[in-house]
Amino acid sequence: MDVAIVTVGDELLTGDTENTNATWLCARLDDRGVTVERVTTVPDRVGDIARVVNEYHAEYDAVLVTGGLGPTHDDVTMAGVAAAFGREVERSDEAVDWLREEGGYASEDLVTGTAELPAGSRPLHNTEGVAPGAVVESCYVLPGVPAEMKAMFATVADEFDGESTYIERVEAAEPESALLDRLSEVQDRFDVTVGSYPGETVTLKVTATDPEEAKRAAGWLADHVDQLDENAA
Ligand code: ATP
Ligand code: MG
Repeated sequence: MDVAIVTVGDELLTGDTENTNATWLCARLDDRGVTVERVTTVPDRVGDIARVVNEYHAEYDAVLVTGGLGPTHDDVTMAGVAAAFGREVERSDEAVDWLREEGGYASEDLVTGTAELPAGSRPLHNTEGVAPGAVVESCYVLPGVPAEMKAMFATVADEFDGESTYIERVEAAEPESALLDRLSEVQDRFDVTVGSYPGETVTLKVTATDPEEAKRAAGWLADHVDQLDENAA
C-alpha cells in the first residue's frame, strides 16, 4: 500500500508548530509495511487542500490528512477535502448523535460547523476532543491536535497494511563518500535497499522483505566497512 500524508496548518509553514503528526504517522505506517510516498504541508486554504488531496487521491492507495477540523474560521480542511471529491459539506447526523450520546454535548451546544463533513463520508469519532474526522473514499481526515489524531488513527490503523520489511543496521566509521563502492555492491549482491545516514558514524540501514536476506547483507557490510574499534577508548 502506497499512501500520502497531507498536514494542514499555517502554523506548520511558519515554524510555530513542529510537524510531529507527519513524523508520527510515517513511523506508524512504516511499522505496518505501508510505504509513505509523500508528505506535503499546505496552508489553511480550501483551494490548496483540494488540489493536493485530489492529486494524491488519484496517485496513491490512500491519503491521510491532519489538521484544521475545528469550527473556527481558519479551519477549512473539511471544505477542502469535500471540494477534492466534488462534494458538499453537510452536518453528519451520525457524528452529532455520537457527540450527544458519548460526548455528552447537547445539540444546541455544538458550535455551527462542528460535525460538518463531506457528504456521504464515514464519520470518525473524536474520543479525545470534539471535532470528528471522516473517511471519504480512501481519504482519511484526522484532527491536528496530536493526542486526538493518534487516538483517531488507532481506530482505522487496521485499514492500512503492506508487505512487512525487516531492518538491520550497521555503523560505519568511514566518511560517507568513501562508502559509495560498498553501498552499491551490497545492493547488487543482495535483494535489499540500503539507506546511509551520517551522524557521529554513518548508520547503514538495510531493508529487505526477507529477514535472512537482511541479515546476510548486514553481515557482508559488517565485514567490508570499518566499524568502531570496540576495544578502543
Ligand atoms: P481543533 O478542533 O482543536 O481546532 P484541529 O483539528 O482544527 O483542532 P488545528 O486547529 O489545525 O487542529 O490544530 C490544533 C493544534 O494542533 C494546534 O496547536 C496545532 O499547532 C497542533 N497541530 C496541528 N497540526 C499539527 C501537526 N501536523 N503536528 C503537530 N501539531 C499539530
Ligand atoms: Mg489549524
